[in-house]
Amino acid sequence: MSLTQIIKEKALELGFAAVGVATAEPFTLYAEEIGSRPEMYAWGRGLSQQASVRDLDLNRFVDPARYLPEVKSLVVVTDSYFEEDFPPSLAGKIGRCYLKGLFCPEETSHSRRRKEFKKFLQDLGIQSIYGPAPARLAGARAGVTHYGKNCFAFANEAAERSSWIVNEPYLVDRELEADPPTLRVDCPENCRKCMEACPTGALYAPLKMDPRKCIAYNSYFTPGEIPREFRHRMGTWVYGCDLCQEACPRNRKWLEKKKPMNSKLLERAGDFSLIQLLTMSQDHYEQKVWPLLYYIRKENRKIWQRNAAVALGNQKDPEAIPALVSVLEDPEPLVRTHAAWALGRIGGKQARASLEKRRRLEEDERVKREIEEGLSLCPLTFGSQGVK
Ligand code: SF4
Ligand code: SF4
Repeated sequence: MSLTQIIKEKALELGFAAVGVATAEPFTLYAEEIGSRPEMYAWGRGLSQQASVRDLDLNRFVDPARYLPEVKSLVVVTDSYFEEDFPPSLAGKIGRCYLKGLFCPEETSHSRRRKEFKKFLQDLGIQSIYGPAPARLAGARAGVTHYGKNCFAFANEAAERSSWIVNEPYLVDRELEADPPTLRVDCPENCRKCMEACPTGALYAPLKMDPRKCIAYNSYFTPGEIPREFRHRMGTWVYGCDLCQEACPRNRKWLEKKKPMNSKLLERAGDFSLIQLLTMSQDHYEQKVWPLLYYIRKENRKIWQRNAAVALGNQKDPEAIPALVSVLEDPEPLVRTHAAWALGRIGGKQARASLEKRRRLEEDERVKREIEEGLSLCPLTFGSQGVK
């Protein structure tokens, strides 16, 4: 058996959904794409100052030799994150790949598998570096995935050829047998369902996404206020967004397939309810939320509260009013601002009375303006329910 076959067999034995091998030359197509619209990625520099991730300079991923000068090949494994079902109460709120904790600080079956694979390569005397390559393009070069117009990688064979997967590249210092690339788009010519489903216009053309307009990016990387004109478009998403994957007919088969429930997540679902996120203590955040959903820094709990307020405002459920009223007294103006917006959006007598009361006490000019706006919009009856 060749070294390539030994490595592939081990990857599949460890539970990866697919594995392929790519050559290691620079990703020039990638460099051209990000170079053609640098303004869309400028936010990545300095990202580590406000999020629990490294600065994102995509140019670093162009040439694998930058990280491993002896690199000869890329082994790309594909992990499927939708083998188990997610609790219904979290649907439409947190992106599935994040809920599955693919790369979170907690130990998971995914992180264990990655460690074992790395150790296996090491025991074979292979030097490897995990990660630094454009994962979707590497997957297409390694023949394990291709593209959809929604920019996602779709599996060539695994997971019913859906996009509920991620590619994970390993740079290695051995010449392995490369697979035939599958760098193509396999969408029906006239399909635009993903673009039509995108509420913000982030997906503005086939294979073109402006991250600055993406709900996912805004949910965890926008440091301050969510612009007013953007808030109603976020729906109930508080961390990530799956809409352009859910809308895709090629994903439907897997989406609708009966799968076992993820029992651990079911037990934890209450930790991520919108009301809980809005009102959570620092302890709750650090111990229950951050270990799984960690992009937002520990000291930025207010970002979660902001997102939860926007989601509750969009949900227009009067039962959220007491919780939103309670955070009108939160020490963070950012939280009060978005709570005032949400109360204005839900409406009703209690919401209105609470905004009027807070207007008399509020000292922060920005929050005051939001309260005025909220009051000017705040219907005396509940917006969507029409309840007195
Ligand atoms: S993740 Fe959501 S906001 Fe982002 S491109 Fe897809 S549908 Fe649009
Ligand atoms: S929704 Fe249609 S165009 Fe978009 S990725 Fe799916 S098949 Fe392709």
